[in-house]
Amino acid sequence: MGRITLEKITKSFGAVKVLHGIDLDIADGEFVVFVGPSGCGKSTLLRQIAGLDKPTSGTIDIDGARVTDVPASDRGLAMVFQSYALYPHMSVKQNLAFGLENARLPRPEIEARIAEAARMLEIGDYLQRRPGQLSGGQRQRVAIGRAIVRNPTAFLLDEPLSNLDAELRISMRAELSALHKRLKTTMIYVTHDQTEAMTLADRIVVLRKGKVEQIGTPLDLYNRPANRFVAGFIGAPS
Ligand code: ADP
Ligand code: MG
Repeated sequence: MGRITLEKITKSFGAVKVLHGIDLDIADGEFVVFVGPSGCGKSTLLRQIAGLDKPTSGTIDIDGARVTDVPASDRGLAMVFQSYALYPHMSVKQNLAFGLENARLPRPEIEARIAEAARMLEIGDYLQRRPGQLSGGQRQRVAIGRAIVRNPTAFLLDEPLSNLDAELRISMRAELSALHKRLKTTMIYVTHDQTEAMTLADRIVVLRKGKVEQIGTPLDLYNRPANRFVAGFIGAPS
């Protein structure tokens, strides 16, 4: 299960209000993309869902359970960052195993999950290498693998492809889409790239200055943009 419900989420840093009351209901298995210009609050919103930060007000429920005050490690979610955030001194395999060892999963289960993720992402050939010996694309596969082995309720991905070159970004985009179809796990994906949003999303949430401008399918947004901002951002005629 992976239904995620946000009600009236606000977030301020000191006197600066960054999120102005976000309401959102994400269905189990949905691929939802947050788009909007740099600084509009996409990462801040994702961090509130992840539990890496606490909203100033509002509530977050996962599958009907209130998690607003539950620490990140107990929310059952897995986050993937633009910067990969791999441990440089560990091998790929150790990076994949680390969280599972901490959770005291039995060794055969850990091995099985790593083997499955390695097969899915085609990273089996470099399990013994360190992140520094990998290309950017390979590192991002490992970062996604590290999320997959945790069997999360939902994946939270913050601009996971934006450090990759254009060609690789397009092929990884297709792979992420295939992965979602296969796993059927809820994905919340942050990007400032409208093409990425249009091709990946079941629904797009357009953010501007900490507010939701529109929520809809890519087709909804293209055909019926709520305003000029959405139309401009999506590239639709307005
Ligand atoms: P986006 O991911 O859409 O580019 P962010 O969520 O990172 O935007 O940031 C939204 C706004 O919140 C920005 O103005 C940013 O400077 C501010 N902000 C984010 N994190 C902090 C923080 N920890 N302290 C102060 N301001 C922050
Ligand atoms: Mg961001």
